[in-house]
Amino acid sequence: MSAYAYYNGRFLKKENVYIPLTDRAFYFGDAVYDVAIGARGRVHLKNEHIERLFSGARSLGYKHGYSHESISNIIDDCVKKSGEESYMIYIQMSRNAQKRSHSCSVCDGVNLLVYAEQYDIPRGSSEIKLVSLEDKRYRFCNIKTVNLLPAVIASTEAEAAGCEEAVFIRDGIVTECAHSNISILKDGTLYTHPTGDKILPGITRRELLNCCVELSIKLREAPFRFSELLSADEVLVTSTTKLLRRACSVDGVKVGCRDGKTYSLLCEKMFERFNGSIT
Ligand code: PMP
Repeated sequence: MSAYAYYNGRFLKKENVYIPLTDRAFYFGDAVYDVAIGARGRVHLKNEHIERLFSGARSLGYKHGYSHESISNIIDDCVKKSGEESYMIYIQMSRNAQKRSHSCSVCDGVNLLVYAEQYDIPRGSSEIKLVSLEDKRYRFCNIKTVNLLPAVIASTEAEAAGCEEAVFIRDGIVTECAHSNISILKDGTLYTHPTGDKILPGITRRELLNCCVELSIKLREAPFRFSELLSADEVLVTSTTKLLRRACSVDGVKVGCRDGKTYSLLCEKMFERFNGSIT
């Protein structure tokens, strides 16, 4: 694990980073964050991750002086300082204010935390197990904030059930997973929940759609029901840290794993695009 983190203009030993009591992330979860991975000095889809961070900051009205380029340089410096061959990068921008008050009309800019730490690039494509849970989250799922209690609770339930992920269902519709997006393949067409306020616009989800386009796989960004997931040919889970994995069971019932050819093509294309961006 890298010993250093960038915090508000300085590189400090991690143990010397102190977050002030005036940081609104502490009281209100008033912070956006992003996670990227990379290797050999490069960061996979760096621009997309910075853009999503900025988009969240804009939606919440954060006033900050960081440009796309300045964040990009900070990320590169963190990667260099970490000395790691492959890594995960964590970026968090939180709103700062002098006193605790729900309204954020009087605020003092932001605190920015960035660090890189060792992370093994996902190579395998082992199958994962899912549990299904009701999607009880509020409707700002498109903004990547640190308000992650529903994901924490769901991930803990998944782990207790011996599963890697929890899939969320809202009114019979599959939205996404606790920390990944989910799509299904049926009769050669990929279905995935449309973007909007019910899911995070995953950067790997977008990559999966790009792979479909390159492979001439039909795709529909349309809601699909849990019953459709149960009868899908493949159930595909995507996230930055895992890239693409197929699910083989939900709540202990076997699902998917019936279109291995398309799944393999998608995996190969995904890795090809990943390798292309870090070499
Ligand atoms: N949905 C949620 C709720 C997430 O937390 C994440 C990120 N871990 C994703 C989807 C996947 O997004 P990305 O591909 O950008 O990592």
